[in-house]
Amino acid sequence: MKKINSSLYVHVPFCDHICSYCDFCKMFYDEKVVDNYLGCLFEELNNLNVSKLKTIYIGGGTPSCLSVDQLDRLLSKLNKYLDDDYEFSIEVNPESVCEDKIKLFRKYGINRVSIGVQSFDDGVLKLLNRKHNFEDVKNCVSLLSKYDINNYSMDFIYGIKGFKVDYLDKVFSLKPKHLSFYSLILEDNTLLKINNYEEEEQDKVREEYDYIYNELKKYGYNRYEVSNFCLKGYECKHNLVYWHNEEYYAIGAGASSYVNGVRYTSSKSITKYVKGIVNKEKEVADREKEEIMLRLRLDEGINLNDYKSIFNGDFLIKYERVVEELVSKGLVEIKDNCLKTTYEGMMLLDSVLIKLMWGGE
Ligand code: SF4
Repeated sequence: MKKINSSLYVHVPFCDHICSYCDFCKMFYDEKVVDNYLGCLFEELNNLNVSKLKTIYIGGGTPSCLSVDQLDRLLSKLNKYLDDDYEFSIEVNPESVCEDKIKLFRKYGINRVSIGVQSFDDGVLKLLNRKHNFEDVKNCVSLLSKYDINNYSMDFIYGIKGFKVDYLDKVFSLKPKHLSFYSLILEDNTLLKINNYEEEEQDKVREEYDYIYNELKKYGYNRYEVSNFCLKGYECKHNLVYWHNEEYYAIGAGASSYVNGVRYTSSKSITKYVKGIVNKEKEVADREKEEIMLRLRLDEGINLNDYKSIFNGDFLIKYERVVEELVSKGLVEIKDNCLKTTYEGMMLLDSVLIKLMWGGE
């Protein structure tokens, strides 16, 4: 059942370089701006009046580009909120971590590190304007291991025209516990889009996903969400809070929280944020729709008993006609009292959701 407010997302929107595909809320690192930003973050955190948190996730931007002193301030502040049996994650870029920063991770209880790798193909790294290479990732992993941080994840991008994911042996050699594979999306206002980089054809993107899925499975990485895979027991607890449609706090510019049924999103303007202007847009969540959309991203699907107790109704009766149609097309199945997407259904998730959302009542 639903846990309320035991998770926190912290947005650190600073980067040493800007990647050609990125449309996140971020700006170039500037020491003074970061100092001010941290002051505002701490104020926002104090105003939340939270006590203990089960999961904290520091994302970006590139949180690891903060100086050792800035990271010390941020992590020591957040450390005080950790509950027993917590997950405390941070995103890093391989070239911006050093031993002193990893010592701080260890000191303040970081127990999960998400490494932004994106590729082990130097041509792709150049295209994406990433500044690391395989050796940097290897060094990052060995430093983490030296300080007993063995739960590390790596993010990759596939579906890039002109390139193939042909480096999975290198990935496995580094023994990550968790892997994320996202297909390249050419977002507006990114360098790739501005330069008219061509999108890969959809059937080739699908072929590549099938290849990744099968290879990862052979090595013991099971998919638990459409883009996320892990060894047994290493699912990201913080991200599961989102996908289970549970509530969470979020602080920082552009961050979006979900509290008492309302989603609050801060302006993406870092300039306004550091001036203390935190205007949050409010949106009352459509809990049922969101629950369906989020849970079908997960291999575990929608638990029909949970649905009944939350929404006071029977999912299979309410969506009878659509479910029958989707089952007959092999896109969903009912298993272990859950409605799940099949492998094919997961690949056509948008169509499944459109059917359920707008063709099901
Ligand atoms: S992808 Fe990450 S490192 Fe690159 S610009 Fe965006 S936030 Fe910064």
